[in-house]
Amino acid sequence: MSFFRFVLFLFLAYVAFLFIRIYLGLKRAGRRPRPAPRQVRGEMVKDEICNTYIAREEALTEVRGGVECYFCSEECRRRSKPS
Ligand SMILES: [Zn+2]
Repeated sequence: MSFFRFVLFLFLAYVAFLFIRIYLGLKRAGRRPRPAPRQVRGEMVKDEICNTYIAREEALTEVRGGVECYFCSEECRRRSKPS
């Protein structure tokens, strides 16, 4: 009788193990198709020097007289400076 119980316990443990594996698999699958938040929220700003649009987080910023200016590169930032 105790052997039967032991087998039953093993069987239940195996079933529980399968359920946990399926549960973890579903959780992992649900997490996968999330796109990068940067592309979703990406705000485009204009580089006034070369008239191109760049992502705000990739742009170089500089505050001039209370106005925030955006530049695509260090070169554009240098060119914008009044000489
Ligand atoms: Zn530029």
